[in-house]
Amino acid sequence: MFESLELAPADPILGLNEAYQQDTNPQKINLSVGVFTDESGVTPILATVKQAEARLVDQERTKSYLPIAGSPRYDSLVQELLLGAGHAAVTEQRLATIQTPGGTGTLRVAADFIKRNYPQAAIWCSKPTWANHPKIFAAAGVPVHEYAYLDSDARYLDFDAMTESLRKIPAGHVVLLHSCCHNPSGIDPTPEQWQVLATLLCERGVLPLLDFAYQGFGDGLEPDAVAVRTIVDHVDEFLVASSFSKNFGLYRERVGALSAVAANNSTAQKVLSNLKVCVRTNYSNPPAHGAAIVETILGDAELRTAWEQEVAAMRERINQM
Ligand code: PLP
Repeated sequence: MFESLELAPADPILGLNEAYQQDTNPQKINLSVGVFTDESGVTPILATVKQAEARLVDQERTKSYLPIAGSPRYDSLVQELLLGAGHAAVTEQRLATIQTPGGTGTLRVAADFIKRNYPQAAIWCSKPTWANHPKIFAAAGVPVHEYAYLDSDARYLDFDAMTESLRKIPAGHVVLLHSCCHNPSGIDPTPEQWQVLATLLCERGVLPLLDFAYQGFGDGLEPDAVAVRTIVDHVDEFLVASSFSKNFGLYRERVGALSAVAANNSTAQKVLSNLKVCVRTNYSNPPAHGAAIVETILGDAELRTAWEQEVAAMRERINQM
């Protein structure tokens, strides 16, 4: 059976990265994979991550399975990072959050959830979008379409074209939005434009899915949450896919979270039960180590302050570059 296989194409982004490694031009700049490097070209381990790991080595008592939804403490810290501590949606327990393996794994769980529960729904991605978006949803059997985003020269956000094409999306479909640091353009809606988008998405009766892979890399941890925090004021139901690959530098540890915001707690519980089915039939329960690092840092006032400073330093270097 293997003999008859065709060689599958290499991933275009990772393939470009390999070509970069082989290029001897001393002035080369790597703009392919979204990985932070310092001035010597190294992707450093954050000092707060090292400190958290030291604590974990000392304190961890078991390697038994985590629950399907991951660590409850981690899940609630993620909710606070998204919406801010004490937000009504959090205190009213209208959020269901599960710990997931990286942003990609998060999106795949979201795709399986959509396919399983809304088989008629397509997902609509910005044109352009991260190259892996359409592939993840297509692999799960969710049809993929595009909505307008940039002008024809790809220099600015064509907001009129964007809203016009979003208005044509049928109710019950899913709209994928980049919460901040739009990949690949880096061009995001303004806070005022997010207000308009939130109202429009609510009117259209579509399910927003916010891909949040770069919180803290745009304008800051709080300002970058503007999309999530605006949409939560207007839309009763939406999904957020968080990745901590970038802002904790935990790329290879695979740390993410999928959050569903619902109108009330009983609906959130129904969503959660269905997300658990998707996880159980995929990877069963999430890997622990990376999320335990995030939980340790976010749950400790001192480490958290130090981490915020590390995120700010990465953000400033990116802006400088
Ligand atoms: N979403 C976007 C927009 C990304 O750019 C990336 C990674 O580059 C991801 C999701 C996935 O990140 P992860 O490495 O956590 O799977």
